[in-house]
Amino acid sequence: MSYTETLPDGTILGDVPGISPGTHFQGRRELYDKKLHRALQNGIAPHGSSIVLSGGYVDDEDLGNVIIYTGEGGRESESERQIADQQLTKWNLSLVKNHLSGIPVRVHRGKTHVPDMPEGSRYRYDGLYRVASYWQETGQDGFKIWRFRIEKLIPDFTLDTNSAEPPSSVAPTGNETPNSRQSTVTRIVRSTAVGEWVKRLHDFTCQICGTRLITPAGAYAETCHIKPLGRPHDGPDVPGNILCLCPNCHVLLDELAVWVNDDHSLGGLDRLLRVLPKHAISSEHLQYHRHMCGH
Ligand SMILES: [Zn+2]
Repeated sequence: MSYTETLPDGTILGDVPGISPGTHFQGRRELYDKKLHRALQNGIAPHGSSIVLSGGYVDDEDLGNVIIYTGEGGRESESERQIADQQLTKWNLSLVKNHLSGIPVRVHRGKTHVPDMPEGSRYRYDGLYRVASYWQETGQDGFKIWRFRIEKLIPDFTLDTNSAEPPSSVAPTGNETPNSRQSTVTRIVRSTAVGEWVKRLHDFTCQICGTRLITPAGAYAETCHIKPLGRPHDGPDVPGNILCLCPNCHVLLDELAVWVNDDHSLGGLDRLLRVLPKHAISSEHLQYHRHMCGH
């Protein structure tokens, strides 16, 4: 994809004209001067326009096309140790806004992430990524950190075409280790046999708000995985990890605006989750999601 936008303060979002992925740079000053990463020290540049992976943070994970990136703030500048909780403010908040509006983020890797870095170069520009999701965690030093799943745009992505089996009245066992690739297409497109079973059991009625959407082709609902599929969460595709939701409530749950307590009261909303005896929801997965929300 190609996308460029220049903000009033001169920050470029998306592609910087004339610079291709794979280009090497001598140092942070050069990245700054070429408008790739407009911050000399911080890992996140203004407006969340770009990030640098420099190997400084133990909590970061670089999987190539997927990066689990740690937000900024709360660190002691000398030791890089976390000494306070990170807040969802400033450029951490910008990364969330980029996630919500689909604005891509430039990714740069430092030497420790690029084994074949040419002599004299210290950074490589690796193209545009998207902020796929975000959540809270307790970091290795015991303080809350914000984490971002950052995915390369247009990776060699294959749609999983498993055909859904006809739903039965017995709960399907599901898949404890679903293919992580499913997570990129799950929100709207993907519905496994397990998801279909959950939706039919609830008669396509949202378990949060009670909405039942009717389209000319029948009722419509979405399956929402409480503990998300894919790295680093690796939630299972099983009934106990799935809710039947309307698209609005699906967004609220995925975006951490709503969470479910063990008594099925809803955090962030003054109501109870609608439950059915045949569909037991895992309190372990609910707790995982609450933790992602910081509760
Ligand atoms: Zn709803």
